[in-house]
Amino acid sequence: MSLMIVGSLAFDTIETPRGRREKIVGGSGTYCSLAASFFSQPRIVGVVGEDFPAEVMALFKSRHIDTQGVEFQPGKTFHWEGRYGHDPNQRTTVKTELNVLGGYRPRIPAGLEDNDIVFLANVDPDLVEVVLGQVSRPRLTALDTINFWIQAKPGALLKALERVDVFFANDEEIKMLTGEVNLIRAAKKVLERGPKLIIAKKGEHGALAIGRDLFFGVVAHPCEDVVDPTGAGDSFAGGFLGYLDKARSFGGNKKEIRKAAVFGSVIASFAIEDFGIDRFRRLTAEEIENRFRSFKRLVSF
Ligand code: AMP
Repeated sequence: MSLMIVGSLAFDTIETPRGRREKIVGGSGTYCSLAASFFSQPRIVGVVGEDFPAEVMALFKSRHIDTQGVEFQPGKTFHWEGRYGHDPNQRTTVKTELNVLGGYRPRIPAGLEDNDIVFLANVDPDLVEVVLGQVSRPRLTALDTINFWIQAKPGALLKALERVDVFFANDEEIKMLTGEVNLIRAAKKVLERGPKLIIAKKGEHGALAIGRDLFFGVVAHPCEDVVDPTGAGDSFAGGFLGYLDKARSFGGNKKEIRKAAVFGSVIASFAIEDFGIDRFRRLTAEEIENRFRSFKRLVSF
């Protein structure tokens, strides 16, 4: 099994109706790798500064995440600050301090070129080519993006889409990227650019998997107490791709895609139950299995 995740390792300052946390560990790569580690043994690629806690590197190792691709550079780790109101789907980015992430060019360590799945989580769209040029042809490539990149580099993002099989984004982001007001029409436009599958995330309303001959809706687990929505999207992608890696299924089997989407939603539902990555520190395989079963009951009729 091999799933490579290229993404940010970060300090996040987060304010939600449940409280405020200063500079806790987050990042798209961090959330995604931890989520995937409940299914497979991912490799994380990214950059941190000298201030990144050794304790989190040890947590990665304890969860069998390969950290050879994490580069330590002089300076500070990427810092993002976000604020949420009572609607967890609405967030405001207060601050983005790129620090060592600015000018970072991912370097894939020797020996890690062969991967079944390569996932680019929220990275600069210009880096997609840089990463894919360093690995041998993966069986599945996937990309997640955020409005920051849609606004900053729409052209580069559309070009990057030609290189990937699966595209994850929020429904609003897909509409923004294509200029379409209808999600289905917007998704079809993206499918024309290259990807075979779009995962349109709809926050607390779940997600839609849209392919050329696939349409599947997955609900979000009903959660009464969303403590911190940060990382839900990255965790969904980690669960989705981690499951496909474990199942040795690389996009051709619709049943496995449906199951992967449910595991993505299940894992994301845990991520939001505590601040930062804390829920993942104590999450067990049994809890995942139980929630998967309750999910089945939730949607069968
Ligand atoms: P999500 O809530 O899943 O959309 O992702 C939240 C994570 O994305 C946070 O932990 C941030 O550190 C990270 N993030 C926010 N902005 C960026 C950016 N411009 N580049 C890379 N990662 C980012």
